[in-house]
Amino acid sequence: MLKTFLRRAVLCGFTPALCLACLAVTETGAVTKMRFRGYMTGRADTNTLLILEDRIELTPASRVLSKDAAGEHPFNPEELSPGMLVEAEGQWLDKHRFFAEKLMVELREDDKKIHGSAYLQEEPADATKIAAGEASELKLDGYWLNLDNTTKRAWNLGRAGEGLATKTSGQNAALAGYHVKYSGARRKDGRIEAEEVELGPPAPADAYKMPHNLEVVRAKDAQTGIEVLEFRQGNKVHGRMKLLAERSVQEYVSLLGDSLIPAGAKGTRRPIEFRFFVVEDPEINAASLPDGTLLINTGLLGAIENEAQLAFVLSHEMAHVLQVHYRREVEETRGSRIGLTIAGVAAGAFIGNAGVFMAQIGIASVVNGHQRELENQADRLGLQNVFEHGYDPREAPNFSRIIINRYGNRTTSKLWSNHESSVIRGSFLTVELMREYPEGHWDGAKKNTSAFQTMKDDLGPVRIM
Ligand SMILES: [Zn+2]
Repeated sequence: MLKTFLRRAVLCGFTPALCLACLAVTETGAVTKMRFRGYMTGRADTNTLLILEDRIELTPASRVLSKDAAGEHPFNPEELSPGMLVEAEGQWLDKHRFFAEKLMVELREDDKKIHGSAYLQEEPADATKIAAGEASELKLDGYWLNLDNTTKRAWNLGRAGEGLATKTSGQNAALAGYHVKYSGARRKDGRIEAEEVELGPPAPADAYKMPHNLEVVRAKDAQTGIEVLEFRQGNKVHGRMKLLAERSVQEYVSLLGDSLIPAGAKGTRRPIEFRFFVVEDPEINAASLPDGTLLINTGLLGAIENEAQLAFVLSHEMAHVLQVHYRREVEETRGSRIGLTIAGVAAGAFIGNAGVFMAQIGIASVVNGHQRELENQADRLGLQNVFEHGYDPREAPNFSRIIINRYGNRTTSKLWSNHESSVIRGSFLTVELMREYPEGHWDGAKKNTSAFQTMKDDLGPVRIM
C-alpha cells in the first residue's frame, strides 16, 4: 500500500503541497510518507536545505544516508552542499516546508570529479594544439575543458575516423560530430581541468534517421487546404499533425531556431537539416525527432514569457538531436528498436495524442522524456548555447518555476514534468548556472525582443493544457 502511494508521489513529480492527489491517506487514516526529490540549490541553516522555493527541514533524529555504486552509507549532514541530488522522505508541513525523516544523497553524480562523453557540436578552435599535446581549451558537453601537459590524450583523427569515407572538400569542419570521452575536475571558475580526453568516431549517418524509414513531410489536406505535417512510410501516411496556420508565427520560430543551430550540425556524417514546426497542440511541450524535426506546441508558445525561454527550449531539443539521444537510448537501455505498432490508424487521420503516436512509432522519449543523464546533458548544452547567443540563461530555470507556480499538479506538461519533474529540472538548471558560471553577470543579457512580442500578438490567445 505504502509503496503504491510512494510510487504515485514520485510519478507525479510535482511539489505534493500543490498536488493534493498526492496526499495519500492509508486505510487507517494516517498520512503516509511522501517523497521529495531535487538538486539542493542552497542551505538556509544547519538543519534546512533549499530546493528552489521549498525548504527541507531536518532534525537530529532524521536519518541522513548516501547512496553510491557500493550501496548505502551514513552521511554527515554537515557535508550537505548545494548541487547534491537528494531525496527526502517525510511529510509536507505547509506549502513550501517539508519535514524529512530520512534524506538520501545520491552520490553517483559527483560535483567535483566529472566523467562524461559527448559529440562535438562544433569544430574545436584548438584542434591542432590538442593533437600536439599543447595547452589548449575544448568546448564539450556544455563545459569548457582546459587541457595542459598533464592531460592524457588519445587524440588521433586518423584512428578515430578509420574506415570512414573522407569528407567532401569544402567542409572544413573536420572534427565536428566526432565523439569525445573525457574526465576531469571542476575548478572554482566553473571550467573543467581535463585529466583525460579521447577522440572517437562520429555517429553513423543513419543515427539521424527516423525509425522504420518514416519521413516527416509538410503537406496540405486536399479537402480543407489545412497545412499539415505527415508521417509517411513510402506512400502510406501513418499520421498527421495540424500545423498552426499563422504563417508569421511559424516564420518567427524557424528564424529563431536557425539562429541557434550549433555549427556542428553541418559537420555530422549526415548533415542534419533542422526544421521547426509549430503544431496545434495545447500541451506545454516541445519535442525533437532523430532527423532534426522540432515540434513546438502552440501551448508552449502560449505559456512562454520571453525569447530567452524559447531559445533555451529550442537549444535543449537540438542538443537531443546532435547528441543522438534517441539512438543512445535504444542501444543502451532497450537493446533493440521498438516495432512499428501502429494499428488501426486510418491513413490520413489526425493524430489525437502526439505522445501516444510517438510511442507507437518507437520514439518513446517524446512521451516519457529521456533518462536523467541525457536530459541533464541537453540542459547543460542548452544553457551554454543560449548563453553564447547573448540570452539570459536564468530564464531557463525561471521557465520551470513558472510551470511549478502556474500549473501545480497539472502533470500534462511532458517537457517540464515527465522529463522528470519541474522541480528536478528547475533545480538542476539553477545548480548548473551556479557551477558553470559562478561569476555570471547577466544584466546586459537578452531576455526579450520586439519580434517575440509580435509573435505573441499574432498567436493571440491559445488553449493551454
Ligand atoms: Zn529533453
